[in-house]
Amino acid sequence: MQSDRLLGDGDPAPVRVLRPAGASEFFLTADHAGRAIPQRLGALGLPERELERHIAWDIGIAGVTERLAQALDATAVLQAYSRLVIDCNRQPGWASSIPEISEVTAIPGNEGIAPAEREARHREIFLPYHQRIAELLDGRRAAGRRTVLIAMHSFTPVFKGERGRIDVGMLYNRDARLADIMLDLLRAEGDLAVGDNAPYAITDASDYTVPVHGEARDLPHVEIEIRQDPPGPRVSPASCRSPTRNCADSPSPAPRERVASKASRVRVFKRPYPHPPIASRWALPLPHLPPPFPPPQAGEGRVEAGAGLVIPKS
Ligand SMILES: [Zn+2]
Repeated sequence: MQSDRLLGDGDPAPVRVLRPAGASEFFLTADHAGRAIPQRLGALGLPERELERHIAWDIGIAGVTERLAQALDATAVLQAYSRLVIDCNRQPGWASSIPEISEVTAIPGNEGIAPAEREARHREIFLPYHQRIAELLDGRRAAGRRTVLIAMHSFTPVFKGERGRIDVGMLYNRDARLADIMLDLLRAEGDLAVGDNAPYAITDASDYTVPVHGEARDLPHVEIEIRQDPPGPRVSPASCRSPTRNCADSPSPAPRERVASKASRVRVFKRPYPHPPIASRWALPLPHLPPPFPPPQAGEGRVEAGAGLVIPKS
């Protein structure tokens, strides 16, 4: 690179913040929401069809996060750049941070890059995103606000040629307080294949956002992985429960939308919190935990989320 500067005038800002003053206790992040590439990096040596695939971004998660932020009046922080430029859910310096191979695809633009370019991607894309999250979380803590961190992701139904059966996964590392609640709620749906730390599990050696912003701050948190519906012809709502069919533009709520609305019920269904077996298993620092929620409200079939907003039960 001829100068230190990676992003130019025509490049988007790396961070998008929705509802920075949102009233919700939920705080959403989307590390893989975007697939922008700085102009000076070209297309990283990849054809467009590769840049549209899940290796470049979490397909659909920006839209789900936007809708969830609106429904909950929740702050959301989204990364605009592709995970192939620098993966914001990886510790800088890891091989997977700026991958030379993603799944089975070689990334020519990431092979043998100079330390200065590696540093520029870190400084101009990774840091602004995580610093913005940290600033917002600091501000909420200073204001005495409770924060529940939700890391939003989507995953491919076919990975390295293997088709998975899971519709949605609740991921955690040391702290399963919120994941446990969400697993119960989603399994109660009856027609979702719900993954408990699947299709992936969070670890200190493979993840960044939850360990750094969730665990280190002792915030209740969960990472939500929603299966991407593959592109294809529109299908009837009745077919949407098949993991092999596309529900992306179905007129009826697709699985991922039902998951989004389900997430909004956590504060409304008011289950005991934290889940006692989980709390004792991990010896959670109780002074930081919120008081138990009051009993469930009447009104089966309707869900109130945020101030005055009512979402019909799907
Ligand atoms: Zn992701």
